[in-house]
Amino acid sequence: MRDRAEVVIIGAGIMGLAIAYNLARHHGITDVVVLDESYLCGGASGRNGGGVRAQFSSADNIQLMQESIRLCRDFAQEMKINIWFRQGGYLFLVRSEEGRRMLERSVAVQNEHGLGTRMLLPIEAQRVVPELSIEGVVAASFNPDDGVVFPWPFVWGYAHAAEKLGVEIATFTRVTGFRTQGARIDAVVTNRGEIRTHKVINAAGAWSPEIARMLGIELPNHPHRHEICSTEPLKLWLGPLVSDLSNGLYFSQSMRGEIVGGISNEDVPEGLDMGSSHRFLALYGRALTRTCPILGSVKVLRQWAGCYDLTPDANPIVGPVDEFEHFYQASGFMGHGFMMAPVMGRLLAEHVAGGPDTPLLQKWNLRRFKEGRLLTESMIIG
Ligand SMILES: Cc1cc2nc3c(=O)[nH]c(=O)nc-3n(C[C@H](O)[C@H](O)[C@H](O)COP(=O)(O)OP(=O)(O)OC[C@H]3O[C@@H](n4cnc5c(N)ncnc54)[C@H](O)[C@@H]3O)c2cc1C
Repeated sequence: MRDRAEVVIIGAGIMGLAIAYNLARHHGITDVVVLDESYLCGGASGRNGGGVRAQFSSADNIQLMQESIRLCRDFAQEMKINIWFRQGGYLFLVRSEEGRRMLERSVAVQNEHGLGTRMLLPIEAQRVVPELSIEGVVAASFNPDDGVVFPWPFVWGYAHAAEKLGVEIATFTRVTGFRTQGARIDAVVTNRGEIRTHKVINAAGAWSPEIARMLGIELPNHPHRHEICSTEPLKLWLGPLVSDLSNGLYFSQSMRGEIVGGISNEDVPEGLDMGSSHRFLALYGRALTRTCPILGSVKVLRQWAGCYDLTPDANPIVGPVDEFEHFYQASGFMGHGFMMAPVMGRLLAEHVAGGPDTPLLQKWNLRRFKEGRLLTESMIIG
């Protein structure tokens, strides 16, 4: 492992790797080390549902995700790896009048920004997925451009491309502290030795608060276990990813035929826990068969969990901090950080390479919590 680097990135999840790739590819900054205490795909980036959507309520998220979907379309060509991107759309369901109003407001903003999302009556939603039970469903929205990817090759694609450009990825290397002088970082300390650097990016996902705390900085993010499972493979029949916003249920069909899905479980206490539970299977099974009864007899083959990285206002924490020079945050991506990585990797790399502090970076800065400038996002799954 190098003992000095221009930039050290903590966390080789999708976010850290996307930033590393963009630094090297678009800014010629190749003297970069990405550190991870685990293996590639050990964090949330290897444990997620692969959903990619532009259906959000805030204009910022909608615009960013339009760009991210475009980058997903080009990914295979650029990285020479198949990410199994399938644009079958996202079908959101709501079960209350309040939910319908929220969906209508969000769809209006999406349409203003050029998205082809449509509000649907329950009966129209059933035309999109004929096997859907619409009992209790009040309204739905559908955007045909949303889709799903297979997460692992996405991570590997960024990793291999970054390495080819000269970036070093050091797995099984745990960051344990920093050496600092005043407001300057001089070195990142790991269980395998020190790396001298003045620029550090904290892309440790749900572990980001632990990293920031090593420098005396408190991030308001908190980790929350989120469980997920996949079934035996079925002949391809399900077009969109279906998500019920009333209980956080979502399910889609992968290109390999499995039904992959999860559900919110508010009983799970906060914490870095990646264990699986029977309770999840019962919760998910009940909600899934209510929404799509035909799936009742399909067998679950695999169950696992990862950590969501939640912030108090459901928006990420991105950019520099006031306490230390060149200590950048890239965390708090809730349950939708995978899909955001292509575009965020590009924006953050540009900033770290000396680009401007854009209005978006100012909005998403950690400072907003001190200044009481909290943001909103209503279309959160889980
Ligand atoms: C079950 C589940 C389903 C999800 N579904 C979706 C979805 O459909 N679509 C979507 O866009 N998002 C989804 N997400 C969210 C998405 O997975 C995350 O937002 C995203 O992967 C975060 O990427 P990251 O790189 O920030 O974090 P991670 O992938 O968690 O990477 C952080 C890395 O930091 C490393 N690390 C931690 N501490 C240290 C240390 N001290 N030293 C060195 N390394 C350290 C960890 O080992 C880890 O590899 C889901 C998440 C889960 C858990």
